[in-house]
Parts: sequence; C-alpha cells; structure tokens
Amino acid sequence: MLLDISGVRSRGERAAFSYEPDLSETLPAALRARVSGEAVAGSSHKGGCRLITLNGALTACLAVQCDRCAEPFESEKTVEVSCVVARTTEMSGAPDAGDSGSIFVWDGDQIELDDVFIPAFILDLDMKTLCREDCAGLCQRCGKNLNHETCDCNK
Ligand SMILES: [Zn+2]
Ligand SMILES: [Zn+2]
Repeated sequence: MLLDISGVRSRGERAAFSYEPDLSETLPAALRARVSGEAVAGSSHKGGCRLITLNGALTACLAVQCDRCAEPFESEKTVEVSCVVARTTEMSGAPDAGDSGSIFVWDGDQIELDDVFIPAFILDLDMKTLCREDCAGLCQRCGKNLNHETCDCNK
C-alpha cells in the first residue's frame, strides 16, 4: 500500500494505516496478514525538514510444517518495525536514526509500505519451526508421531 505522507511532512499530522498486504509472491505460506501502524513527524532537523518515523507491525498467520514431526500447523507471527524515513536528497545531511535503528529512503510523497514491512518480516522468520517447544518428533525407527502415540522401539 502506498501511504501518502505529504501531510505528515508539511503539517506534522499523523497518518495511520491498516491494510492487508499481498504476500502471495514473497511468502506463499501466509494465509492472512495485516499491516498496521502510523507515520509520525519527528522534530525537524537542520534545513527545517521533518524526519518521519514509521511505527507499525506486520502480523501474519503462516501455514507451516513442524521440523521435527512434520505435522502441519498454523503459526501466527508479528514483526514490529520502527524506522525513520528520509528522502534520498536528505541523506546527504545524514540524519541520525537514533535508537529507532534503520532508515528507509524514499522519493516523493508516498511510501510503499510493503517495501518496509515485508522484507523486515521475512528477515525475522525463524529458520526452525516447531509445532510446540517440546515436540517429541517422529520415532527414528518406525516413524510414529510420538506426540500422539507411543512405540516400543526404544524399550
Ligand atoms: Zn512437532
Ligand atoms: Zn518407534
């Protein structure tokens, strides 16, 4: 979604957003997803330009498979993003992102929110997926799912 931040920039308004991103290409496992948050104007830095801080979160429900027992399950994950957005032309002044971390550079009066939230979400995905912390997994020998049944192999 394109967020118009001209009002935030020129008049110090807040711009709230909430939408459902299309993750079908980047993250086909996502069953549903929502991005919400707001853009707020920070204090102006030299030259009178306002830096804008973008705070928000992407929550997605993913269809995944347990690495240990191969059981499919749904996992909800939220990744919060807080970043400073600055125009390309302002980068020469090297605004200080402070504690908020990253700087997202854009051109024009609109920010493509997908470009901020989706990469941050994907970067934060766990490589290891377990249906639960203490998943018993599959028996190495007979292949039974030890979460649901027991076997005599190790006796
Ligand atoms: Zn499992
Ligand atoms: Zn067994």
